[in-house]
Amino acid sequence: MRDADLTQLVLDGNIRAAGRLMRKVDDDLDSARPILSELFAHTGKARIIGVTGNPGAGKSTLVNHLISSFRALDMTVGCIAVDPTSPFSGGAILGDRVRMQQHALDRGVFIRSVATRGNLGGISRSTPAIVQVLDAMGFDIIIIETVGVGQDEIDIVRLADTSVVVTVPGLGDDVQASKAGIMEIGDLFVINKADRNGFKRLRRELRTMIEMGEQFGPDDWKPPVLETIALQKEGIDELRDTILAHLSWLDEHGESAQIEQQRLNHYIHLVATGQLEKMIARVMKDPAWSGALEDVKARAATPYDAAATLVELVIASAADRQSS
Ligand code: GDP
Repeated sequence: MRDADLTQLVLDGNIRAAGRLMRKVDDDLDSARPILSELFAHTGKARIIGVTGNPGAGKSTLVNHLISSFRALDMTVGCIAVDPTSPFSGGAILGDRVRMQQHALDRGVFIRSVATRGNLGGISRSTPAIVQVLDAMGFDIIIIETVGVGQDEIDIVRLADTSVVVTVPGLGDDVQASKAGIMEIGDLFVINKADRNGFKRLRRELRTMIEMGEQFGPDDWKPPVLETIALQKEGIDELRDTILAHLSWLDEHGESAQIEQQRLNHYIHLVATGQLEKMIARVMKDPAWSGALEDVKARAATPYDAAATLVELVIASAADRQSS
């Protein structure tokens, strides 16, 4: 399989080619860039769903059945499962295998698990590119599943058209409250493990939280609270239909274009900062830079002076390369 063929193979939905391109993206966005550039014109059609919640909330179980539920409507599904809790990738790979088995023979499903090995920053960098690949492959729905802690995850979920926040009963107030950041981005809330004690109380808390968050006009989307028992496949089709209803609402209210614009801006920012970081690293590795560093060490210059010089050098080297 030659690199030159990857673009067409990915467009044709070739699984191996897609896997290869995704590994390239993980290794270094630069080597993947020519192919991603060729694919870009073929993107922008997929709808992106973010699913987030605590570890053990039942996300994998839920997403697995949700995929089947979309398939029942003949919609194709690509899925990226980000698992920052498994530093040695064992957990993610195992989970992947279990899931792959269920959808293995279905060409309408592609699941990509990524263990972050504690490097979530890397994942939030590569995820938008992986989404692009799945989009170019022609999947109708792309699900990004991630644990709901921290800014990086929130950034990942920001990519989505519809953000689903999965909660479970019996975790206590403090846990729910500590997730305030993630709560704000929920377009719909799922109480999974609705077979458990404390589910009515959680439902009350979630509804109160949603009401307190903002005033809803008759035309606004008010995040619904759904109940599922993922283990028994209960409530999954309702979840799917509510997601589809939200997507239609976005379209009808002109919100989809705005989300797309934010997503593209986020991506451009990501690529640009990645480039800048590389340029900064290059300048700092240059022997000439050690002089500037010596000055700071000798307290003859401040770190702020040095940073200003660094920025100037980066701009100069960028100008150099453009003219050459
Ligand atoms: P994730 O870490 O959020 O992806 O959670 P998993 O999908 O791996 O599920 C964690 C555990 O909860 C597993 O043992 C599941 O079988 C179990 N589980 C998932 N959904 C339900 C549910 O609706 N009810 C109950 N009682 N257990 C569930």
